Amino acid sequence: AKAQGPASLQLFTKEISARAAKTLSLQTRLRRAIEHGELTAHYQPQVDLLGGDIVGMEALVRWNSPDLGMVSPADFIPVAEESGLIDGICEFMLWECTRQNKQWQDEGLPAIPVAVNVSGRQFQYARRLLSACERALVDNRLDSRWLEVELTESSAMRDADNAIAVVNQLKDMGIACSIDDFGTGYSSLSVLKRFPISKLKIDRSFVLDVTTDPNDAAIVDAIIAMAKALRLKVVAEGVEHQEHLDFLRNLGCDQMQGYFFSRPLPADGLRALLAEGRRL
Ligand code: C2E
Ligand code: CA
Ligand code: CA
Ligand code: CA
Repeated sequence: AKAQGPASLQLFTKEISARAAKTLSLQTRLRRAIEHGELTAHYQPQVDLLGGDIVGMEALVRWNSPDLGMVSPADFIPVAEESGLIDGICEFMLWECTRQNKQWQDEGLPAIPVAVNVSGRQFQYARRLLSACERALVDNRLDSRWLEVELTESSAMRDADNAIAVVNQLKDMGIACSIDDFGTGYSSLSVLKRFPISKLKIDRSFVLDVTTDPNDAAIVDAIIAMAKALRLKVVAEGVEHQEHLDFLRNLGCDQMQGYFFSRPLPADGLRALLAEGRRL
């Protein structure tokens, strides 16, 4: 006799194992992708809202899989975080962006910092992160002022004491830190004040309707005022329209990043913007 549970339970078990199998195969593929060099870095410029110059860039990982096509980081970063593969991705990004930035400087392009996204996990195992930064900078002979790190507000606040210690260690190495996705992670001001960071990045979700939703406008206004009081620079993410830009500029936002100026670009695309001296 076959041991069978109720149909609904069978269905449920089947669904779970299908989901587990899917995750596993993504994990297996991702592991192979890291080994086989299927990951690349794209770069999105950050622009000064007063002068109009490109003053920085954020590096964003891209995975071009031979069997899955382009996989979005939103789909594979969570899998990478669960499986620990994020360590390898982070190390790849740190090294590759440092190498690329040094190459652009050697070509005589304007020098700007590159910001790499770092997960909460990297902050938990900080020694590994710090030595990966060190190795990337030494191997590629890049001055540490041209490398930055972005940490999300929610990761920063999960274990704030530890995160503050790591930000301090990065700062000692000359690497500046920004708090990413700000406004989504319930920071307390008293904790935020203790972070030796240089920038806040306002989450895209507040920018999206900033010109039409008075609540979003009030939140963005408050974040900018607070950042000024703490002497931090403010970067707005997800700026897609001229109206966004005008509104943010009026509120005193320092920098913007978004499709209005440029999408994230492969290295050649960013090189072209820098070479052209493209401005807002
Ligand atoms: P994020 O750090 O908040 O990065 C900004 C995301 O917003 C990017 O999505 C970017 O392409 C997108 N974006 C930029 N401007 C606009 C705009 O004007 N409109 C809209 N709708 N979107 C815009 P992407 O590249 O798909 O990355 C998604 C997330 O994946 C990132 O969010 C980050 O959390 C994570 N991620 C990406 N690369 C890395 C990485 O190398 N390491 C880690 N740990 N996470 C990464
Ligand atoms: Ca980011
Ligand atoms: Ca962000
Ligand atoms: Ca975001």
